[in-house]
Amino acid sequence: MKNPQRPCHLIQEDIAWGRELSQEDKKHVLSCSSCSDIAAQMEELDSLVRKVIELEIPSGFADRVMTKIGEEESKGESFSSQWFPLLKRIFYSRAVQWMLVGIGTVFGLYKIFSLFSGLMLHAFV
Ligand SMILES: [Zn+2]
Repeated sequence: MKNPQRPCHLIQEDIAWGRELSQEDKKHVLSCSSCSDIAAQMEELDSLVRKVIELEIPSGFADRVMTKIGEEESKGESFSSQWFPLLKRIFYSRAVQWMLVGIGTVFGLYKIFSLFSGLMLHAFV
C-alpha cells in the first residue's frame, strides 16, 4: 500500500497534537525543513512543559522562606505562633509552590501561544 504524500500542514498538525506519525511522515519530517523545524520546536516545548509539570523548586528555597517566616513569627505574639505555625507553614509552602507553578505555567502558555500562532501562519498563509 502506498500513501500519497500528505501536505505539510497536516503533518505539522499531527506533530503539534503529539499524534504518532507514520513511517512516511517521519521520513518526510527528516527531509522537510519546515516540518523538522516544527518537530524541533515541539520537542523543545515538550521538555519545557515537562519541566513545568515536574517543577523542581530549588532545594533549600522553601527552607529559607520557612526560616524567614519563623523569624517573623518569633517577633510576633507567642499565642498565634504556638497555635498556627504548622498551618502557616503548610499555607506558605503551598503558596510558594503554586506561585512558582503559576509563573512556569504562564511562561509555558506564552510559549505555546506564540508557537501555535507561528504554526497557524505557516499552515494557512
Ligand atoms: Zn513538510
